[in-house]
Amino acid sequence: MLDLKVLLKEEEIQTRIKEMAEQIDKDYEGKEIFAICVLRGAAFFTADLTKNMKTLIEIDYLRTSSYEGTESTGKVKLNFDISESIKGKDVLIIEDIIDTGYTLKSLREHLLSKEPKSLKIAVLADKKERRIVDVPIDYVGFDIPNKFIVGYGFDYDNKYRNLKYIGYVE
Ligand code: 5GP
Repeated sequence: MLDLKVLLKEEEIQTRIKEMAEQIDKDYEGKEIFAICVLRGAAFFTADLTKNMKTLIEIDYLRTSSYEGTESTGKVKLNFDISESIKGKDVLIIEDIIDTGYTLKSLREHLLSKEPKSLKIAVLADKKERRIVDVPIDYVGFDIPNKFIVGYGFDYDNKYRNLKYIGYVE
């Protein structure tokens, strides 16, 4: 079993997600949202965020993975794409974390080419210190230090995503 130090407790995560949901509801008043969950990590965040929202919302999924050596090349692979058209829709990308920024930069460009009416991004965690490319982020759950986090969607060797809290490896 992994020895994890607690970074964010379950209650802290859930309280912050409720605040984010409220803010998003306010910003999208009178509109419908087409949410795009970035698998696999953002599945937990997407479920809790959208469950706390009142706005009419459609949820689709896509999956990315980074090529090896991503940090030097910035190449991001789209394993599978959304299945609906987003042309003319108000799209919200829901991602677990922004680190170097490569994943969201590439996703943003990919989705903008499908001509949505608007495109915003919500992330649960922002590791600002590590940013290499700039991406506009509209909703941030937590600014976190430069540590490898695990739990609540974040994996360690593809496991531990189901923890209710977020910990870090020392
Ligand atoms: P990027 O560097 O492109 O902004 O983020 C790439 C991906 O790296 C994220 O979507 C996430 O899957 C992964 N990642 C970045 N930091 C962490 C971390 O601290 N823990 C885990 N489990 N994954 C991370």
